Parts: sequence; C-alpha cells; structure tokens
Amino acid sequence: PYVITEACIKCKYAYCLEVCPVDCFYEGENMLVINPYECIDCSACEPECPAEAIVPDTDMLAEKWLQLNQEYAEKWPNITRRK
Ligand code: SF4
Repeated sequence: PYVITEACIKCKYAYCLEVCPVDCFYEGENMLVINPYECIDCSACEPECPAEAIVPDTDMLAEKWLQLNQEYAEKWPNITRRK
C-alpha cells in the first residue's frame, strides 16, 4: 500500500483523495492517512501530493508511518466516501 508521512501534517490541499479509485483516505485533525488494507497500490495519489508526503510502503520513510496509517484509519472518519 501507499503510506502518508509527516509532510502531510497541516497540508490542506487534499488533491490526493480526489484521484483514489477506492476512497481509502481518512482524516484526522492535522493530516490524512491511507487505510493500508483498502489501498490497491495504484499509485494515482502519489504525484498529486504537493508536499510529497505519500510514499510506497517500500520507501524508508514509510517504515514508522505504516503502522500509524493503519491505526488512525481505524479511528478517523473516511473523508472520501462522505463527499
Ligand atoms: Fe488510493 Fe491508489 Fe493512492 Fe492507494 S495508491 S491510496 S488506491 S490512490
């Protein structure tokens, strides 16, 4: 899956979620996360992020964020499905 990392914090562009075919973005107070169980690895969101906060789970940056994306996706509301 793709993983949202630190650079997302306080970024409010949210272009990424517009392109996600499976609506797997969840929103917290300061950032978005991707539900790793729902992401189909299409990579459409990665180039849309102006903060370059979205990385594949093979990226070194993803290591500490994958677990957090998973935890927060379970707690936070889905931002794409409510549109
Ligand atoms: Fe959605 Fe594709 Fe990004 Fe996964 S990689 S979050 S499926 S847009």
